[in-house]
Amino acid sequence: MQQKDRLYQTLDQIDSQGYKSYKKLQKNWYDFKDFKLGIPYVQGDPYARPSSIFIRLSADKAGFKNWYYKNNTRIKAVEDYLSRKISSNISKFLEGHRGSGKSGLITIASPGQEVIKRTSLEFTPHQIEARIKVGLPARGRTVMGYQAQDMFFQEIPKIVKNSLYFKNIEEEHLRNHVETVEEQTILRKKLRDKNLVSFIANGSILPRKSGISDRPMNTREAVPFSSPCEEEVEFELPYSGKISGLGIRKGITLIVGGGYHGKSTLLEAVARGVYDHIPGDGREYVVTRKDAVKIRAEDGRRIEKVNISPFINNLPGAEKTREFSSENASGSTSQAANIIEALELGTGLLLIDEDTSATNLMIRDARMQQLVSKDKEPITPFIDQVEKLYKNKEISTLLVVGGAGDYFDVADRVIMMDEYRPRSATNQAQEIARNLPSQRQQEEGRQFSSLSGRIPDPDSFNPRKGRKIKVRPRGRETIQFGRENIDLSSLEQLLDQGQTKAIGDILVYALKNDIIDGKRSLSEILTEIYNRLENEGLKTISPFQPDGDYVLPRPQETGAAINRLRSLKIK
Ligand code: ADP
Ligand code: MG
Repeated sequence: MQQKDRLYQTLDQIDSQGYKSYKKLQKNWYDFKDFKLGIPYVQGDPYARPSSIFIRLSADKAGFKNWYYKNNTRIKAVEDYLSRKISSNISKFLEGHRGSGKSGLITIASPGQEVIKRTSLEFTPHQIEARIKVGLPARGRTVMGYQAQDMFFQEIPKIVKNSLYFKNIEEEHLRNHVETVEEQTILRKKLRDKNLVSFIANGSILPRKSGISDRPMNTREAVPFSSPCEEEVEFELPYSGKISGLGIRKGITLIVGGGYHGKSTLLEAVARGVYDHIPGDGREYVVTRKDAVKIRAEDGRRIEKVNISPFINNLPGAEKTREFSSENASGSTSQAANIIEALELGTGLLLIDEDTSATNLMIRDARMQQLVSKDKEPITPFIDQVEKLYKNKEISTLLVVGGAGDYFDVADRVIMMDEYRPRSATNQAQEIARNLPSQRQQEEGRQFSSLSGRIPDPDSFNPRKGRKIKVRPRGRETIQFGRENIDLSSLEQLLDQGQTKAIGDILVYALKNDIIDGKRSLSEILTEIYNRLENEGLKTISPFQPDGDYVLPRPQETGAAINRLRSLKIK
């Protein structure tokens, strides 16, 4: 640990020198009295990935009340709050661009509408550690030492002072943030007591501002959610008291209604309910069991030895569907594989939207059954397997259908969206099903018995390009993994580029630590990985110093990435 004056002097000395002289700062810690500033990594030039800066503040100095440390949910919520606070104070106190490339920039990985465990800030009973990125300033490639002094001795201390000291934070605001997150966690745990898979509180704002903004729609335009009384449930929460809304029970639930009446918006909100949301999001009391998986068709994806035989059999060309592989799956086979893989990774709720499904996997109506006999049709549609999924495996389904009324026969409940207002249509749908039989034959499909046991071959993973490990995110939807790209664009519950980055490094970590060992099955691999992340913290996956850019992905998405690796071989 050096005194901060040393940093000041070094910056004096290297002013006007070549950019490489900034490397003198690398791996040093400086004592700023109130906090400590570490520089684990210095960028090679002003255009490269910015330098990493860590700020450490002792818990004594930060002065947070004990209440905030009481459980992991509160800690996660405080970390999220403080990351956001730093982000907004950067905008407030940063002079900004100074010099070439990224000179003068300060950033912290910034959260969206969800509150997910991340590594940008660590809040422990001993200290707060914030991990930010700084573009060390230069003109061309010439060090601007005095500008850097400004950043280190004016701007950063101001940002720290206004973001991380309890006394400078509006407590009511922080408290509300933490309580809201904690209540979502509590609600999610309580779902099971009432036999629910999801809950949508009355008054929630589900629609978003636009197709490219995840912020809530303006309250003047949005119709707030209100549950049909038949399906209304009530919970008691520690801070907000009584809360009521729509309880989606276990079993098979349909969401029906005309086009543009809000069906997909509701399903989307349920899919996002596996995560907690910030106050003001509109979905902060929309919670779903955390293993729910949104399923869709994904033609073109690769499939490696998945047992899709409950849905597909006797393909032309005699491909075995108990161990089905494809370099270029069709709509129906990709969706079948997505369902089976979700079951393999562990899920209790499938979320399916007709909009993004393969019709021939979902339904075969009476007329089609007459024309194309069962022995000529490889597909057993989902409608004939959905009850089995629930009865034998306790896997519920929430399904948006606008077109296929045959599903009335298998639904436990029907919710109709009518101009964004849900109402119960269960009795009506059942009556229609009685008066107007679909006349289709129930098709007997294979059992969902042998789902487990796909063992990935570690030799089929190659994170290297040439000699070096090259694994990194390319936006939210793609991971560069050695020589190949893993396409995650159809994983609708993967929300943050930080999750994409984490998945890539989790895979490398799992290979290095022999977790993918050629003996463990995919689900055993994920269990082991997530146990370790729980014990060691998410930052453990970082190949170098802890990195502030990671956001925790769910095991469901990490497993889905492995399943989408084009080189994957199953033993
Ligand atoms: P569907 O799936 O039934 O065709 P969508 O869910 O796609 O309908 O919604 C259609 C449009 O209505 C979208 O632009 C959406 O943002 C908007 N919308 C959805 N729910 C509401 C609501 N509660 N209030 C206002 N607008 C809404
Ligand atoms: Mg829709």
